[in-house]
Amino acid sequence: MFQNLQDKLDRAFKVLKGQGNITEINVAETMKEIRKALLDADVNYKTAKTFTDDVKQKALGQNVLTSISPGQLLTKIMNDELTALMGGTVSDLDISTNPTVILIAGLNGAGKTTFSGKLANYLRDKKGKKPLLVAGDVYRPAAVDQLQVLGEQVNVPVYVNRESNDPVAIAKEGVEEAKRNGNNIVIIDTAGRLAIDEALMNEISAVKDATKPHEILFVVDSMTGQDAVNTAKAFNDRLDFTGVVLTKLDGDTRGGAALSIKSVVNKPIKFIGTGEKMEALDVFHPDRMASRILGMGDVVSLVERAQQQFDEKQAAELQKKIRKNKFDFNDFKTQIQQIKKMGNMKDLMGMIPGIGKAIKDVDIDDNAFKPIEAIIDSMTPFERENPDAIDAKRRLRIAKGSGTNINEVNKLMKQFADMRKVMKQMSNPGIASKMMRNMP
Ligand code: GDP
Repeated sequence: MFQNLQDKLDRAFKVLKGQGNITEINVAETMKEIRKALLDADVNYKTAKTFTDDVKQKALGQNVLTSISPGQLLTKIMNDELTALMGGTVSDLDISTNPTVILIAGLNGAGKTTFSGKLANYLRDKKGKKPLLVAGDVYRPAAVDQLQVLGEQVNVPVYVNRESNDPVAIAKEGVEEAKRNGNNIVIIDTAGRLAIDEALMNEISAVKDATKPHEILFVVDSMTGQDAVNTAKAFNDRLDFTGVVLTKLDGDTRGGAALSIKSVVNKPIKFIGTGEKMEALDVFHPDRMASRILGMGDVVSLVERAQQQFDEKQAAELQKKIRKNKFDFNDFKTQIQQIKKMGNMKDLMGMIPGIGKAIKDVDIDDNAFKPIEAIIDSMTPFERENPDAIDAKRRLRIAKGSGTNINEVNKLMKQFADMRKVMKQMSNPGIASKMMRNMP
């Protein structure tokens, strides 16, 4: 995410490296580079100018403490200013009303329908709500089908009326349906267009007037940079939306939209989409995004994502098994599946400070676990629970059955045995305390 911008900012900071002090001259030079980096990332011109002027002012106004370098000081100022630029703090959804009506707006292909599914999933899973999805795109039957599939996938009901071609009526019916069935959230997915036109704006304004939504979320594709900001402005002028959803931040986006939207439309980014899967949705944290842009990593998000996938009961059971040295291939496979659910591997690793840059040219294959899973699947249930029972002949069969080769099977068996050994040592309190005592 934002790799190019990260690299360029890094280079800009180098101007200050080795300099003992922040002076008018070296700051001006650094700011010129930073502004160039921002413009290259497709940040709005005015935003970039105001931003660098602010940073410069702050930098010149501060004494450099002896313990930090001018580069470090500037990183800190940049971090604070980028955070402020993107809204400062997290902006929560207002979901206190029963039912809360949430209208989803945006152009075709922005990711509205996908986001509607993700939001329903998030509100049910994380907020304990009972959402209803409403299929309001009357022009594309495929969009209705898509929402139904997503609804099924995340286990949320979808209100559909294929007889009607009136989005206002459908939206109103959806809200009534929610009241009847005790759904406390109504998410209305609406039709988009390829570009902004009057008919679209009139239609969505009419849906707004008829349903009085508590939240209107404008969904925009972050890959479209400046265009995203212009579209946001046009939608906001008509709809006065309550928040922005930036999608496709997992792609090769330059970052311009994320950095400019708040300052241009003065509405907060509330969510970001980071993939096609239903779990690939994050609440937008300006501070975390700032530190990611500056290559400082985003350990907090990483930990949170890990925690979301973490099932306490399962973990306790796993602990017990490890203690008894009963960790088997079934447990191993469950662990792999949990890691996979956390999202794209490269994205995850990019959140670790210092790693993002190091792996930018490395091809990290999300399918890396496939052969391992295939090997485990080719074992019999007995073998999965008793790996020691797998002899040479069976290894050959497993290699054949899984479409891998004997080397891969041997490697996995060896890694698994090593892992069990380490686990056993770690879980044995006697050994752990002995190890502690031996520490310097
Ligand atoms: P709509 O026309 O606005 O309803 O857009 P869709 O929800 O149909 O999304 C358009 C395409 O973008 C689909 O192929 C989605 O899978 C994809 N998409 C949506 N959100 C994301 C995201 O956050 N990341 C990625 N990589 N793809 C996304």
